[in-house]
Amino acid sequence: MKEEQIFQIAIDGPSGAGKSTIAQQVAKLLGIDYIDTGAMYRAIGYKILERKINLDHTEEVIDLLGKTDIDFSKGNIILDGEIVNDQIRTPEVTKMASMCSALPEVRAMLVALQRKMGQAKSVVMDGRDIGTNVLTDARYKFFMTASAQERAERRYEELVAKGQNVNFDAVLADIIKRDHDDSTRALNPLKRAEDAIELDTTGMSITEVTEKIIKEIRKNGNC
Ligand code: C5P
Repeated sequence: MKEEQIFQIAIDGPSGAGKSTIAQQVAKLLGIDYIDTGAMYRAIGYKILERKINLDHTEEVIDLLGKTDIDFSKGNIILDGEIVNDQIRTPEVTKMASMCSALPEVRAMLVALQRKMGQAKSVVMDGRDIGTNVLTDARYKFFMTASAQERAERRYEELVAKGQNVNFDAVLADIIKRDHDDSTRALNPLKRAEDAIELDTTGMSITEVTEKIIKEIRKNGNC
């Protein structure tokens, strides 16, 4: 791919808005890479839990970050050479990912890595601060939302399908808490970039949202 043809697609939005499913579909249709930045925060959260590190012990967190390697390969997230796709999806890791994502040291490391991953080739990257902070020059920016009730329903069904024993009210409460924490944290809070297209996906299917994004990109002749 020639350099002028390289382009980035940033997809941001709150938990459970359908970002990762849609981003994966868009990447597949365009034949470009997908980078799930939430999975990167989850990988760090998982390692912090495994090592039983106290988040208040900044030196230990910094030491752990210096010895951590995160990569993506063939749709898998690789933490220090090990595939951790399933390990990073538990409720405990979800909570820790959100907590550690507020630490400046964690954000600095992951944002630098995400920028590096997004520079060399065309990518679809999803998260909370991609359009506002990580890839501010992304050619396409989308901000995906849906009502908290619908996002909780989607997340609940996803977890039940994975065989997890979950309670709907707890899933909804978690979504509301993460919305609050993500949008009020001091560093790189969840926020729509001024130049992002807002997509309210309430009541829309995955195919409908994907088509809407692809249509937007086609308008500019990129697929
Ligand atoms: O998207 P996902 O739910 O997997 O993200 C896990 C957590 O990582 C989120 O709750 C959020 O706090 C954090 N995150 C972030 N910035 C990103 C992506 C995720 O702070 N770009």
